[in-house]
Amino acid sequence: MRMLAPYAAHDDRSRGRRHPEAPPRYRTEYQRDRDRIVHSSAFRRLVYKTQVFVNHEGDMYRTRLTHSMEVAQIGRSVAVALNLNESLTEAICLAHDLGHTPFGHAGQEALNECMREYGGFEHNLQSLRVVDELEERYAEFSGLNLTFECREGILKHCSLNNARTLGDVGQRFILRQRPGLEAQLANLADEIAYNNHDVDDGLRAGLIDLESLRDLPIFGRQLTNVEKRYPGISGRRLVNEVVRRMINDIVVDLIESTSARLKDAAPRDIDAVRVLGEGLVEMSEAKRAEHLQLKQFLRDQLYRHFRVQRMTRKARTVVQQMF
Ligand code: MG
Repeated sequence: MRMLAPYAAHDDRSRGRRHPEAPPRYRTEYQRDRDRIVHSSAFRRLVYKTQVFVNHEGDMYRTRLTHSMEVAQIGRSVAVALNLNESLTEAICLAHDLGHTPFGHAGQEALNECMREYGGFEHNLQSLRVVDELEERYAEFSGLNLTFECREGILKHCSLNNARTLGDVGQRFILRQRPGLEAQLANLADEIAYNNHDVDDGLRAGLIDLESLRDLPIFGRQLTNVEKRYPGISGRRLVNEVVRRMINDIVVDLIESTSARLKDAAPRDIDAVRVLGEGLVEMSEAKRAEHLQLKQFLRDQLYRHFRVQRMTRKARTVVQQMF
């Protein structure tokens, strides 16, 4: 069996579950977390939640369900390469969007407005509420009773006011601490997954085009490589060859740069990771800059595209009226 790094989450040293339970017989604690998430109702409901493209636009686009699976794939690959806890990473990745409204940011903003008098709406907080309270699956407790480490990862952001009401998982926002490495990794895997699949979906929808993407080094470099290697290649095959290379390029950079940071910081365990002033799971500065450029491109060319904006306005109305 693969040895976990000392700074990984070790399930025999977990801070435990809110309602104590006997350890699983044939699984680890974090495998149990992951399995509970996969069997939850909220997980199945991710299939009708979308980010940029709404469901009726076709079954070729990502939904939050397929997005979460892509995030988990990236997270697991990196976790294994860095000797971090693969099952915990997978669990956090699969659960990271459970509390989202439908229709991405438009839905979130609309619901936040509707909820103003009641303290607003934060999707990260809602994800935690889903796994802590809303799921009704067990006779003895509400929610999924996940481990502290998984809940810590699910609560990615949180306002200080809300943090004060959350007990153990809220503490780090008050103390300005970091979560464990698996949680940090899930966060990066999310970012890598959506930037890359939004390029793919955006091209598929015809809202962005290859020629304008060519000017971005992170994309253009791979485009040139693929065209050189396979002269005459075009269409979906070309896009897929470029996007998979782009993901690989970023993931390899993330592994190598994180590995170097871990070597320098040499945290002795997960608690040492939590009190460090900065996150350790990071791309190199050069790659981060390129990735940011891609993100800005998507913001300007895709998310602000009139067809996307038109849908966003409809989404807002749907959420407000339902509320
Ligand atoms: Mg996400």
